[in-house]
Amino acid sequence: MKVTEHIANAQSKGKGKTLFSFEIVPPTKGSNIQTLYDNIDPLMEFNPPFIDVTTSREEHIYIPKENGLLEQKVTRMRPGTVGICASLKHKYNVDAIPHILCGGFTKEETEYVLVDCHYLGLDNLVALRGDAMKHEQYYSPQHGGNHYAKELVEQIVNMNNGQYLHEQITDAHRSDFCIGVAGYPEKHMEAPSLDADLRRLKEKVDAGADYVVTQMFFDNQRYFDFVAKAREMGINVPIIPGIKPIAIKRHMQVLPQVFKLDLPDDLVTAIEACKDNKAVRQVGIEWAIAQSRELIQAGVPVVHYYSMGKSSNIKAIAKEVF
Ligand code: FAD
Repeated sequence: MKVTEHIANAQSKGKGKTLFSFEIVPPTKGSNIQTLYDNIDPLMEFNPPFIDVTTSREEHIYIPKENGLLEQKVTRMRPGTVGICASLKHKYNVDAIPHILCGGFTKEETEYVLVDCHYLGLDNLVALRGDAMKHEQYYSPQHGGNHYAKELVEQIVNMNNGQYLHEQITDAHRSDFCIGVAGYPEKHMEAPSLDADLRRLKEKVDAGADYVVTQMFFDNQRYFDFVAKAREMGINVPIIPGIKPIAIKRHMQVLPQVFKLDLPDDLVTAIEACKDNKAVRQVGIEWAIAQSRELIQAGVPVVHYYSMGKSSNIKAIAKEVF
């Protein structure tokens, strides 16, 4: 079922019925998928209607050669997104949503992934540009690929209209993907201003995106202001807030550095006072509970949690708020 249908169903059952969902990251190449299931199992009692599965960019690795030189190879350290989605759908009877990237894929490769998703009965996709590769300072588009997420949305919409690449197929079967895109309450790191970024978001929605999922934020006011501005600009699709519980002290530096976002001073002070990461994890849980309660009170359609690795903190939060 489509994310938009899950939301509409929940809202028709009673005002303000907020759904629980989460995102997972595929295991590293060579790992056993059971570890992933072990982390998902405890969250299924909260009835997530959908689970997102990220896609990782390819990376350069350097293999030592006999002559002492290093050979550069390109690899994907966390492959298997579409396969994991199929397995989650089958195992848990849940809608699993693959993240589809522009970066690293030609339009033809993207089309093959979309065909796989369609045949597997995956009803939803999240269309993303992707970040720069680890060794690159700036994002550079794949030759022959989509540059921005908006173009990827257009490619998916074309397939929904029965138009495949190179227009060689007539009377093609139509897919019917529901399309999610990313939004940034504290603006995307490359955008010159929040307003400019919101205009880009509107372009994605006008191109056919059905809903927005936000980057993590730690101050709900940022989300409320973002939604108000988006509505003023005519972005009328659901905007799902994304929440990440802080889990280790190092997140205080890593999250602002990687995602260019602010941590509220009350949160920073509470983390600084922690003796160890066990205490930090507890602070992260309590902060996310407070955020979730306020968001639910405000009637958000879904609270979507970023779960990287162990899910015990997401379970502790969900137990208190769902
Ligand atoms: P876009 O919407 O294409 O925007 C990228 C930047 O370009 C923005 O600054 C925008 O303002 C600007 N822009 C857009 N169009 C134009 C234009 N025509 N001209 C000039 N500027 C323009 N990354 C992964 O690698 N894998 C994942 O699975 C993944 N999942 C994510 C899930 C969520 C919910 C979010 C919020 C992010 C996720 N990301 C993921 C990170 C995402 O790939 C990065 O944030 C990336 O830098 C931007 O992606 P986007 O789809 O928002 O890009």
